[in-house]
Amino acid sequence: MELDLSSFSKESKSAFQANKKLKNRLRKVKGKELDTQFEALHHEVFSELDCLDCANCCKTTSPIFLNTDIDRLAKSFRMKSSAFIDEYLHRDEEGDYVLNFSPCPFLGTENKCQVYEDRPKACREYPHTNRKNIHGILELSLQNSLICPAVFKIFDQIGAIYRK
Ligand code: SF4
Ligand code: SF4
Repeated sequence: MELDLSSFSKESKSAFQANKKLKNRLRKVKGKELDTQFEALHHEVFSELDCLDCANCCKTTSPIFLNTDIDRLAKSFRMKSSAFIDEYLHRDEEGDYVLNFSPCPFLGTENKCQVYEDRPKACREYPHTNRKNIHGILELSLQNSLICPAVFKIFDQIGAIYRK
C-alpha cells in the first residue's frame, strides 16, 4: 500500500528537533555498538517497509553520480558520457554531479526505477543505515529522517533505547 508521504513529512518535521538532540546523544555511543544497533533496526524496518510503496528519495532528492555511474548509464542509453551529463546533470556546491530534475527522470510508473540494473551507487546504498561508521554520517542520517520513512523509523526506535 502506497505510503502517506504528506503525513510522514509533517510527522518527521515535528520530530526533527527531538531527533537532533538524539543525534547528539548517539555521538557518545561506542561506534561498534551504534553500527550493530543501526544494522539490526535497518533489517527490522525494511522487513516491513517496501520501497515500491514510497520512492520518496527518488521523488525529492538527487543521488550523486560518480564517473563510473555516468559511464555505465550513458552506455545503457547508447549515449556519450558527455551527452548524458549535458542532458541530465550539473555540479552541486561540493562539485559532485547531481540531477537537473526532481523527481528523478528515471523514476517510472508504480515507483519503479527504469534504470534499476545500472542505477548510481548512491541509489544502491541509500539510506546508508546498514553500513559501518554510522558515527561519520549521523548528520546526514538526521537530514535523511526528513526524506526516508525508514530512517525516521530507525531514529524512533533507536530513541527508545538511547533517550532514556
Ligand atoms: S530508501 Fe527510504 S525514501 Fe527511498 S524508497 Fe525506500 S523507504 Fe522510501
Ligand atoms: S536512478 Fe532510479 S533509484 Fe536512483 S533516484 Fe533515479 S529512479 Fe531512484
